[in-house]
Amino acid sequence: MKKHNFSAGPCILPQSVLQQSAEAVLNFNNSNLSLIEISHRSKDFVAVMENARNLALEHLGLQNKGYQALFLQGGASLQFLMAAYNLLEKKAAYLNTGTWSDKAIKEAKLLGEVVEVATSKSENFNFIPKNYTIPKDADYFHCTSNNTIFGTQMRTFPETEIPMVCDMSSDIFSRQLDFSKFSLIYAGAQKNMGPAGTTLVVIKEDILGKVSRAIPSMLSYKVHIDKESMFNTPAVFSVYVSMLTLEWLKEKGGITAIEKVNKQKAELLYSEIDRNPLFEGFVAEKEDRSKMNATFNLKNDELKATFDDYLKQAGINGLNGHRSVGGYRASMYNALPLESVQILVDVMQAIEKGA
Ligand SMILES: *Cc1c(COP(=O)(O)O)cnc(C)c1O
Repeated sequence: MKKHNFSAGPCILPQSVLQQSAEAVLNFNNSNLSLIEISHRSKDFVAVMENARNLALEHLGLQNKGYQALFLQGGASLQFLMAAYNLLEKKAAYLNTGTWSDKAIKEAKLLGEVVEVATSKSENFNFIPKNYTIPKDADYFHCTSNNTIFGTQMRTFPETEIPMVCDMSSDIFSRQLDFSKFSLIYAGAQKNMGPAGTTLVVIKEDILGKVSRAIPSMLSYKVHIDKESMFNTPAVFSVYVSMLTLEWLKEKGGITAIEKVNKQKAELLYSEIDRNPLFEGFVAEKEDRSKMNATFNLKNDELKATFDDYLKQAGINGLNGHRSVGGYRASMYNALPLESVQILVDVMQAIEKGA
């Protein structure tokens, strides 16, 4: 039987998507060829790329609004650099809410001045800073919508006149936002969309062309836009699986429908963390808790071996916290069913009764 997969990333994908992907690897579109052995310039694959790009914009409500969707390589980590390369002329403003923001800042500093508008680093990133000021003369403001490692999530985004750039790797397509507030959104596929190997970049075209440096082709958004995300060989398999996941999401009713399920899952788990005397949450303020990654600890470490054993017996996978936080982390991405969260809650209650 398939395990209950709470892995933080790469992570769970819909079972039907895995099935279709497996079939396409053997025989793609009844061509008697594999998806991964045909030309990326073939009609069949060009249609996949087009469909994936369109679906991404459609889900985000950004069609015909001056945005382009790209499926690039190099992970969200390359976007830390690429965003700055294409947008940072003199100065950029960053909100530091965790390890990934910190890494984004490090890359941007290679290219210009970085103003850290606020940080929660001194508290091991257990909250989202609020009430900071974004300098009006910065080229852009960068934030991380969901902090995968620490389990915090931005509920609201600041109002600013400068372009807003957001790393949405671990919560894209999980909740409805006014995505038109963002000029650049990027997300590694392997958290909520597909296998590792491709990164979705959604960019408002009018923010480009404003920096004076020469941009190497592979790092240039403009080059990738002009080549319709096919400047070089794309990660065909990852793009195909991402397309299937976006189709799956559409059949489910889109972001609005999945957001309801995500909310139920998060409420179910957090209410157990709050109720059960054996556990405590990691995040300081309830309003900052992530609906995607719930971080929590066992108050009594001596119960760890028993709890881990219960988890294993229940078929629960991927619940260990990141090494910088410790404890446990339940990642509840779009494809994780509510039943899996219920099983986890049952295990938490079982150890309470046995203890
Ligand atoms: C996983 C993750 C990254 C890193 O993604 P890669 O694709 O491995 O480079 C960046 N930001 C966030 C928020 C993440 O969750």
